[in-house]
This record gives sequence, structure tokens and C-alpha cells, in this order.
Amino acid sequence: MNNQEIIALTDQFIMQTYGRFPVAFVKGEGCYLWDANGKKYLDWLGGIAVNALGHAHPEIVQVLAEQAKTLIHTSNLFYTEPQARLAQLLCEHSFADRVFFCNSGAEANEAAVKLARIWAKSSANKERYEVLTVEKSFHGRTLAMIAATGQDKVKKGFAPLPEGFRTVPFHDLEAMKAAVGPKTCAIMVEPVLGEGGILFHSQEYFTGLRKLCDDHQLLLVFDEIQSGLGRTGRLWAHEHYGVTPDVLTSAKALGTGLPIGACLAREEIAAAFTPGTHATTYGGNPLVCAVAEKFLEILLAPGFLDGIRERGDYFLGGLKKLMETHETIREVRGKGMMLGATLSIPGREVVAAAMAQGLIINSPQENALRFVPPLILTKEQIDEGLARLAGVL
Ligand SMILES: *Cc1c(COP(=O)(O)O)cnc(C)c1O
Repeated sequence: MNNQEIIALTDQFIMQTYGRFPVAFVKGEGCYLWDANGKKYLDWLGGIAVNALGHAHPEIVQVLAEQAKTLIHTSNLFYTEPQARLAQLLCEHSFADRVFFCNSGAEANEAAVKLARIWAKSSANKERYEVLTVEKSFHGRTLAMIAATGQDKVKKGFAPLPEGFRTVPFHDLEAMKAAVGPKTCAIMVEPVLGEGGILFHSQEYFTGLRKLCDDHQLLLVFDEIQSGLGRTGRLWAHEHYGVTPDVLTSAKALGTGLPIGACLAREEIAAAFTPGTHATTYGGNPLVCAVAEKFLEILLAPGFLDGIRERGDYFLGGLKKLMETHETIREVRGKGMMLGATLSIPGREVVAAAMAQGLIINSPQENALRFVPPLILTKEQIDEGLARLAGVL
């Protein structure tokens, strides 16, 4: 089928929840994708920060094929080695002692909120359930996570939403302090806001949040679903700020394209989950865990994270140069391979023009561009994309 045929079939049978670009991809290799009409694209989106190792990475393909031949799924009524080993690897490389595996980011956040609530029941003040989040945040599309998300556009039409969430202004520590009440049990924030348009908080903000949580016995939950796993040039985004959370959620890149989410926590908190309290059928099956383990091995190999930081700086430098010659770019920002720009024109038009030029980018907010390419993007591929972007602008 060509692009037009795939699009027609999709639009006939798929529920119309997405505003898609009229392109159907059929093949990927490294940082490139090909559509059904044979056109080649440079991928600066990586499936929204998912394809961290690009497309068809040979080591991922190999472990996926081998594990598929061996064992794909058993359910969590039993033990499997890939799940145990992946959990060990995540704990050994984080503040956490235990992991709960699920299948998506929203589900990882659901697990974090359920954990916070059931943990609160075992704390001094048992009547707490409220989770504070920030405006412009994004935490997923389940009913509870649209309640948690600080953007009205995801909530419209779905009332009544679950109770127990309150959003406070972005990057406003005083507002957060003022919002903490007798029912509050946790604060959940993204170390870097992805869907919000690649927005960073300051060091003082994180230090302040940690102190606020310590002073009021609240859990600090970091949603690193988009910003974690090397995206910012450190394994975890919060490492840039020297502030440790109590609970962390991960997903997106974790399975490098296979669906997996994870909720990580320290022992005292994780202990609130006991057999029967929380579950999911697929969560952490041997197939996805074997792939995620291989991804982490590659990510943690000496020099890999350094390379992301180095090429990320190069990328940001290139964007800054582009800003000097193109006044439609108002601001650029980024850490590692998580970069964004604010424009004086609608981002969507730039994205469409870039697609026509064979460059895949996206616009998570009205005037913002987001660049979350595969972490293996080379300097040549940065130059190549910047040249195309310059042409578009
Ligand atoms: C993508 C994302 C989610 C939701 O993940 P899904 O896998 O789409 O459910 C939650 N939080 C953040 C920060 C994200 O970027």
C-alpha cells in the first residue's frame, strides 16, 4: 500500500483521536525513516523520545528475536529472569530499591499515585490522598492522569474526573508551599516538561521542593517518563539538580519501542504495596524486559552518556546560531538530546514544512518546537537537520 491507501484505510477504521501528518512509515534504520511512497526522512522525534537507539538497532533486533523464540509472556503469577534482572539494573543505577513494571507512562504514574495513597494510609496522617502537580505538566491520558495533568485541553469533555489532584502555577515554589494542605500526600513533577514544550525548572525550585516534602512528610514523585534514561545526558534528569525523589516513573525510551513502564521507589515506600494491591497482566513480560535490559546495558556502557552531552551541546550551539539569523526563533533551550525552541509563528506550520523537506520534528505547544531525536544522532545528522530547518524557516 502507498501513503494515500494506508491513510484512507486508517481514517475509515481507526477512531479519530489523532491529528496525524499525512505520512505512513514502513521502514526505519538508525536515525532515518522511509514512508510508503519511498521518501526518506531524518528522524528528530524518535517516536516521541522512544526510539532512543534509533530504528532497527542490530543489538536490540537480536535480543528481541532471541527472546521471542525463547519466551514472550507468562503473566505475573510466575517469576521470569529478564524481569528480575531489569529490576536489579534499574535499582543499582538509581535511588530506588524496588520496581513495579507496567506497559505505559500513564500506567507508571497511576502506580505512583496509588503507591502514594496507600503509603499515606500507613503514615502518621492516614487521611491524606491529594497529589499536587504543576500547570503545563503532562502525566498521561487515563482519567486519573488527565486530572493530574496541568493542561485543560486534555480534560475537556471527560468530567467528572477523579478527585485528589490539584495543579499549581509552573515553577512557583511559593505557590506550591501555599498549596500543601492537610490532605496532601505527594508532589508530582516532571524534571523537564516535555509536552509542555521542553521547559526547565531551576536548581532552587528542586531544592525547595525536596525541603517542602521533607518538612511535611510528602512523597516527591519525579515523572521522568520523557526526560529520564539518558535523554538529558544523565541517566536520570534529576541528577542535574542533585535532588533525589522518593518515587520515579519511567517509560517511553525504556523499551526502545516496545511498551513498558516502570515505577521505582525506596523500600519503605514500596513496602506499602502488598500482594493483591496492584497488578497488570502484561507488566514486565520477558520480551520487553530482555529488550529494556539490553538498552540499559548500551546506555550505561562507558562514554555513551558523555557522548549524548557532547552532541547535545553541539546541537544547542547549532540552534543558537540558527536563532541569530532567523528572527522567527525567539528562544532555544536544551540539555543533552532534549531540546526545544519558542517561535513567533505557529509551530505546526514549521513542522509541516519540515516534513515536506524530509525532517521529522514536532510542536507540542502552539509556538514551540521539540527535538527529541534518537540518542545516537551524529553531528553530521545534527548539521543535516539544522540545514533543512534553516531552509524551512
Ligand atoms: C508521554 C508521557 C506520559 C504518558 O506516557 P504514555 O506512555 O503515553 O501513557 C506521562 N508523562 C510524561 C512526562 C510523558 O512525556
